Amino acid sequence: MNTIGDFHVHTNFCPHGSDDSMESYVLAAIKSGLKHLTFTEHAPLPKNFIDPTPEKDSAMRWEDINKYFDEANRLKHLYKDDLTINVGFEIDYIEGFEKESIEILNKFGNQIDDAILSVHMLIAPNGEFVCIDYSMGEFERIVDLFGSVDAVYSKYYETLKNALYSDLGEFKPIRIGHITLIEKFSKVFKSSTSFEDEIISILSIIKELGYELDANAAGFFKEYYQSSYPSPAILAIAEEMGIPLIFGSDSHTSHHIARGIDLLPITFSSPKKLKND
Ligand SMILES: [Zn+2]
Ligand SMILES: [Zn+2]
Repeated sequence: MNTIGDFHVHTNFCPHGSDDSMESYVLAAIKSGLKHLTFTEHAPLPKNFIDPTPEKDSAMRWEDINKYFDEANRLKHLYKDDLTINVGFEIDYIEGFEKESIEILNKFGNQIDDAILSVHMLIAPNGEFVCIDYSMGEFERIVDLFGSVDAVYSKYYETLKNALYSDLGEFKPIRIGHITLIEKFSKVFKSSTSFEDEIISILSIIKELGYELDANAAGFFKEYYQSSYPSPAILAIAEEMGIPLIFGSDSHTSHHIARGIDLLPITFSSPKKLKND
């Protein structure tokens, strides 16, 4: 299978994204010369989980999910000669909501071709959930809740490890999203150490469990980060370890399809569990 693809793409069903239609992403992918595209819309959050973001816009609405699948399936068919389209989720690992996440995955597992597991939500020391990538202002509040930048980073990597080891059932994604997302505001909120040991130990677990890495270029375009998730240096280590690296632009607008792919001097793989194959 040809590896030229963008395997982390959002849609108009993302409340914090753009209104660009799924078809416009497909056309952009074809125009960029891609052979593969995976729609990974944020899976709806568990119904008993309260979205901690100020706008409550972290994920697709439950009422949109059938429309999302219907449109993906229509496009798959329509463009099958030009592009392999996969449909799936970026699903949140939320500590304490594993049971609910299994239910979501089991409910839709038969309809998804590909998926990513990501951590955006952490439990703060006061027990409230926080979303780490919402905004700089919100990140500042999170640092206050935790007491230090280092404490936020530690909790993030601990939660990521829990995500890797968690039992999310037979449809648990094997690709792990943007494993250094916590660094999104790192040019302003600096940790006292690099946390590289933590990141390497995460890579070892990914390798041990046979998972894949989302080689996510979106970070290059974040003003307060300006690198990939994870950085090119970490991706090189992951490549050396034999971890499959799957390109993702994390586009929330159609003209960002494949953006940043040339900035990553690595060999990309295709997701190995694609149902479309
Ligand atoms: Zn998003
Ligand atoms: Zn994400």
